[in-house]
Amino acid sequence: MRVAIIGAGVAGLAAARSLQNNGINVTLFDKSRGPGGRMATRRIDDLAFDHGAQYFTVRDDRFRRQVHLWLQEGIVKEWRGSIGSVKNGTVQKKSVSTVRYVGAPRMSAITRSMSARLDIKFKTRIIDSHFDGSHWEITDENQMTYGSYDALVITTPPTQALPFLDQSPALKREIECIIMQPCWAVMASFNRPLPLSSDGLFVEDSPLSWICRNNSKPGRPESESWVLHGSPEWSSDHLEKKPDEILPLLLTAFFEATGLKSVKPDFAKAHRWRYALAENPLTQEYFWDEENRLAVCGDWCNGSRIEGAYLSGVSAAGRLAGLPDALQKPAPREESMRLR
Ligand SMILES: Cc1cc2nc3c(=O)[nH]c(=O)nc-3n(C[C@H](O)[C@H](O)[C@H](O)COP(=O)(O)OP(=O)(O)OC[C@H]3O[C@@H](n4cnc5c(N)ncnc54)[C@H](O)[C@@H]3O)c2cc1C
Repeated sequence: MRVAIIGAGVAGLAAARSLQNNGINVTLFDKSRGPGGRMATRRIDDLAFDHGAQYFTVRDDRFRRQVHLWLQEGIVKEWRGSIGSVKNGTVQKKSVSTVRYVGAPRMSAITRSMSARLDIKFKTRIIDSHFDGSHWEITDENQMTYGSYDALVITTPPTQALPFLDQSPALKREIECIIMQPCWAVMASFNRPLPLSSDGLFVEDSPLSWICRNNSKPGRPESESWVLHGSPEWSSDHLEKKPDEILPLLLTAFFEATGLKSVKPDFAKAHRWRYALAENPLTQEYFWDEENRLAVCGDWCNGSRIEGAYLSGVSAAGRLAGLPDALQKPAPREESMRLR
């Protein structure tokens, strides 16, 4: 059996590993230069910023087993940063009961490890797909055609999945209802530590919703580096602004929210996530169209978090391969490679 997967984020990689572990031939296609999707790290000279997903938590035992393996391999570590919330300069600490994990030495370490020994075609944006009743063919933006595949797995955010669903109108209707919220992210570094005792703060009554001292996470470069996330509402209202217009607005919001004296950063850059988090995520893990041998999965099918994305990919793969026990089978130990 040959399977094509569109998207090499957490969901696509989890699906690919599950299928490959069960002897199925898999090829992934991703429009980006590397794996990871929204679980990303931007490296600029000696700086590093996790500008997408910030950390993850574990609720489901199936995911817990995988995280345990990643912890053993050292590509995941617990983040013991001081977390709280802030409103108009007043900080409140959060309870310490939540265990937060991060990729080490960066978020992208996890997807880098997951992508080892997989056949992935990067810089390949798929724009069309066709099922002839028994096999799939897919076409990229340079009109290159790939095939033939016995099944297709789509793991992109929902809006980007719609062009591939003309043959499954019922599925398309369900997916059309999912709203993805944008997020403007700012990465900023300073030449000395800012006098703020918190490492991560949920921000209230501000254009920002989250701020994080990236260098407080294990294994990161020491330079004082912050990631600021615009709230979904503010990011929506400013969606088509240029990055250079966003920077001063969110930096000002940062100093206003924390009550810190404004300092000029040594480096600052803004990045727009057009499809960041689902406003109305589903809880069904994945979609499967038996007639068209088509699976659709991703975080938005399952809670809009890293854990949900992982389980969505693994569950879709289990259904596709007819392996109801796939979820119970932890990945072999050698799967997880230490990042050099
Ligand atoms: C700003 C931000 C903060 C977040 N914070 C957290 C957090 O703290 N904790 C948490 O658990 N989660 C967080 N998330 C959510 C988390 O990042 C996602 O749940 C998870 O990474 C989604 O994985 P995925 O594989 O479903 O999708 P994605 O990571 O989006 O992967 C989809 C892939 O498909 C590719 N693609 C799209 N269209 C095409 C095409 N036509 N052809 C080829 N390839 C294509 C993309 O390049 C991408 O690599 C955050 C996300 C963002 C953006």
